[in-house]
Amino acid sequence: MFRTHTCGELRITDKAREITLAGWVQTIRKFGAITFVDLRDRYGITQLLFGEELNKQLEENPLGREFVLQVIGTVSERSNKNPNIPTGDIEIIVSSFKILNKSSVPPFTIQDDTDGGDDLRMKYRFLDLRRNAVKKNIELRYAVNRAARNYLHQQGFMDIETPFLIKSTPEGARDFVVPSRMNPGQFYALPQSPQTFKQLLMVSGYDRYYQIVKCFRDEDLRADRQPEFTQIDCEMAFVEQEDILNMFEGMVKSIFKEVKGIDYTEPVQRMTWEDAMWNYGNDKPDIRFEMKLLNLKKASSVYTSKQDNVALINDASFKVFDEAETVLAISVPGCADYSRKQTDELTEWVKRPQIGMKGLVFIKCNTDGTYKSSIDKFYNEKKLKAIADAANAKAGDLVLILAGAEERTRKAISELRLEMAERWGLRKKDEFKLLWVLDFPLFEYDEEGNRWVARHHPFTSPKPSQIETMINNNPAINNAAEYLKHPYANIKANAYDMVLNGNEIGGGSIRIYQRELQEKMFAALGMDKEEQQHKFGFLLGAFEYGAPPHGGIAFGFDRLCAILGGSESIRDFIAFPKNNAGRDVMLDAPSTIDERQLEELQIRLNLKN
Ligand code: ASP
Repeated sequence: MFRTHTCGELRITDKAREITLAGWVQTIRKFGAITFVDLRDRYGITQLLFGEELNKQLEENPLGREFVLQVIGTVSERSNKNPNIPTGDIEIIVSSFKILNKSSVPPFTIQDDTDGGDDLRMKYRFLDLRRNAVKKNIELRYAVNRAARNYLHQQGFMDIETPFLIKSTPEGARDFVVPSRMNPGQFYALPQSPQTFKQLLMVSGYDRYYQIVKCFRDEDLRADRQPEFTQIDCEMAFVEQEDILNMFEGMVKSIFKEVKGIDYTEPVQRMTWEDAMWNYGNDKPDIRFEMKLLNLKKASSVYTSKQDNVALINDASFKVFDEAETVLAISVPGCADYSRKQTDELTEWVKRPQIGMKGLVFIKCNTDGTYKSSIDKFYNEKKLKAIADAANAKAGDLVLILAGAEERTRKAISELRLEMAERWGLRKKDEFKLLWVLDFPLFEYDEEGNRWVARHHPFTSPKPSQIETMINNNPAINNAAEYLKHPYANIKANAYDMVLNGNEIGGGSIRIYQRELQEKMFAALGMDKEEQQHKFGFLLGAFEYGAPPHGGIAFGFDRLCAILGGSESIRDFIAFPKNNAGRDVMLDAPSTIDERQLEELQIRLNLKN
């Protein structure tokens, strides 16, 4: 037998037992005639004691870090106990040992606080994975996987695999393509998601489908994106939106319970997309804290038809506000005593290119009841107080105001809101707050092509009450500057996102299931009949054979794991991730291929540089 126990298993109750262990050498400490070795495996660390006799053998066959070692010995009580590890009460008095394999000196230490930089650890990811800190993440990932499967299985979902070599129908992100040797000049694409397959499975009658599945998107990699990532992909037939929301908040709560022991008993909050944009400036608000936006201008966008507090900033001849498309404020609790240096620093923060604002206006609501502001010249104390009151500011709070173009300003204030909450410790890693964001717009305006694109994807259905608006209006946008006035701008979809602590963790929709409506949708997106047939003929055809009403959702599995693990980075939760440039530095991929391979594929390269 290779081993009788693991390195995390033995306790004082095993005292005097004859055991065999196998594992990797973590550390070697020589004390005169005896040597201590920490032996590590996936389960833990056990201290080994090599006595005088064996030390001679060790001199002939010296051990090194990460050597693979097998020992036979007796469990003994340690005189110098280590309360920090579960095996800390015992050690193994080694009677014989065998070096199963040697190791080169590892390029970094296999410890929680390693000396290895990111690149080095990625190059030697198989060693990095030995570290406890990484192993914990991989274990958590498996726990989330198991919890999701358990729940979905109990609910009658079937895991059905769908193909990876499919047809290229890019919408949104670019496809990764794979040349076909047997069909020269033709290419497969790797799926961006199994979307159309899961819908076809609904047509086939498998009314509860799921898959924990790889998706591939050839996007420019923004921070913390991976070209291949994993989704918990789900679809149900004969359901309404409400059924889906209930089913999948059940899944996430069940994952919380199984993985983190958290009883998330309260119902998941819900918010319309319009309210999210209006009150928080983005569609995935972190609702662990309030700090809602105060809108100080007439709504100039599709976000809402809501009233605003426009009167509060009028009649002051303050050009910055008067000329801005949007003026937005937040109140930050307890920051009225910010020094000049601190407000200057915040101003610099909003001016950074990532935020892109020209400046920052502030109102200090002093505890003595006075108001001090960078715009004192234009607004007297009464007016400042009125703005501060409207922003829900109390004595001691600091009101921050941004003004500028709608999209940019809304995005900037939502970033500023998160930044201030971060500084105030309001974004606690161990607090989890779920939110459904509902009623997303069906379309998005694509400036470049002066056309409509699907906000979610082209299979998402409009709100039933707005189907007529979609069908009866010409999608053409005659005046690009006025696209917001086009009836399409206001059509909402039966689409929903699940948000966790300010991160979108899942998104889905109720689908179109009638051929006619699907054709209309494709047409609205600028696809003529021929293109529709070429790209999606299979789906349109399937809709003619009894397609049931259906809908679904997909969760970003990597992201969900990262948040549950209290980390910002999904890479930490993927066994073999790619770097920010989409490279696998361990494999050195992507890479060139042989001339012979190219020849077989009948492909000639035409590299531009
Ligand atoms: N396939 C969609 C996505 O990947 C999710 C869904 O609609 O179910 O975003």
